[in-house]
Amino acid sequence: MELIKSFSVDHTLIVPGIFVSRVDNVNGESVTTYDIRMKRPNREPAIDVAAMHSLEHIIATYLRNDPKWKDDVIYWGPMGCLTGFYLILKKERSSKEIFELVLNAFKSVDDTVEVPGTAPENCGNYLMHNLLMAKWYADEFVKYLEDNSENDSIFEYPKTERLVTDDGRQFFDS
Ligand SMILES: [Zn+2]
Repeated sequence: MELIKSFSVDHTLIVPGIFVSRVDNVNGESVTTYDIRMKRPNREPAIDVAAMHSLEHIIATYLRNDPKWKDDVIYWGPMGCLTGFYLILKKERSSKEIFELVLNAFKSVDDTVEVPGTAPENCGNYLMHNLLMAKWYADEFVKYLEDNSENDSIFEYPKTERLVTDDGRQFFDS
C-alpha cells in the first residue's frame, strides 16, 4: 500500500501526556480517541509488557466502574509500541477535560491488591502480569501528570505530518 503524507505527529517530539488522537462521527454521535502516552517514544525504554498487561486490566476495570464516566467508556487498550494506551470515549471533550479521570484511573493502581480478571477463563495470557511494576509505572505517570498539570505540552501533540493511506484514510500507528 502506498503511503502519502498529510498531517501527523512527529513521534520523536512526543512527550508523555493526554492527547486527542481523533474525533469520529458514529451514527451522528461524536466519539473521541485519546492517546494516553506514558513514555517518550524511541527516547526511553517502553513499558514492561507484563506491567502493561496489568495496567490494561486494572484501569479498564476502574474506567468501567467510575459512576461519572462508565457510560461514556467505549474502549481502553494498550498501544502495540508499549509507550501508552488508547482511550475511546463517547462525546467530544478536550484532553484537559479528562485529566482528572486519567489521573484518578492511574491513582487507582496503587490501591490494587490483585489484578482483576487474571483467571485463565478471563485472560488470554493470564500468567503475564506484574502488579508491582504496574504500580511503579502508574506512580511515575501520576507524579508526572501532577507536576505538569499546568503545562499545555502534555495536552497537545506537536503537529507535523501524518501519513495517509492511498484510500484516503489517515495512518495511525502510535
Ligand atoms: Zn489479559
